[in-house]
Amino acid sequence: MNILNQFDHYRTLRVTQECQLKCGHCPLWKSEVAPHPIWDSLFDLFKDDLFVTIVPPTIRVIDLIGGDPFNEPDLEKILLFLHKKHIKIRLWTHGLTMRSQIQSVLPYLHHVYLFFPAPNEAAYYHITGFDGFSQCKDTLEFLLANQAVTLNCPVQTDTIQELPEIYDIAVSKNVPLMIHYDPDLFTRESRQYIRRFNRMKNVTVLQHRPRNGKQCQVVPIHMQVPSSNRKIYFKETMNRIRHKIQI
Ligand code: SF4
Repeated sequence: MNILNQFDHYRTLRVTQECQLKCGHCPLWKSEVAPHPIWDSLFDLFKDDLFVTIVPPTIRVIDLIGGDPFNEPDLEKILLFLHKKHIKIRLWTHGLTMRSQIQSVLPYLHHVYLFFPAPNEAAYYHITGFDGFSQCKDTLEFLLANQAVTLNCPVQTDTIQELPEIYDIAVSKNVPLMIHYDPDLFTRESRQYIRRFNRMKNVTVLQHRPRNGKQCQVVPIHMQVPSSNRKIYFKETMNRIRHKIQI
């Protein structure tokens, strides 16, 4: 398979389609074909510098997504490879993986986006079909002590009411929060509510485009800056403090 198929012009590398969660709107786990690695051995493509020859040299940062990237057996090797090429990595994960696995890749990461869709066990289970809220919170604590991290919170029509509680958790942990939603799926009233929330709380709220059905559905790919832009950054605002994420 051509690795370029895995890159769009936003520099996203999807390393796996496997994920432990079953989010209601995600096509990956519903596919009749069982989730499978995209390549027999993804790392083969990174050997012999094939990766470097086919990826534009302007790329300085890559968003590594899945599924969940920790399901790719060669993740650490891939990250090490990219690290040696001075490419910065933003990793998008649900964080429900062994601590040792996370720890082993931290030296190669620039930023982690932790999927944080809900503020309590019941809502987390409702959204993801997995009883993982405690583990998600443990991972957050670990990351806060070791790594730049942002909470990645996709808003869905049936979880919009959770926003204030998620916001309170983010404030209490002093961690940036990024909220994103597809406006086409919401009623006018709900869109107004989200806009009011944005104004009153001064937290980053992004709108996202429909995504490629082969990737994790909770990554707001649209926010990334085209690779031709050498000054790559985006801003997050939390609690009236602006975080400039330089990448
Ligand atoms: S949307 Fe993302 S986190 Fe949810 S099941 Fe799909 S791949 Fe996993």
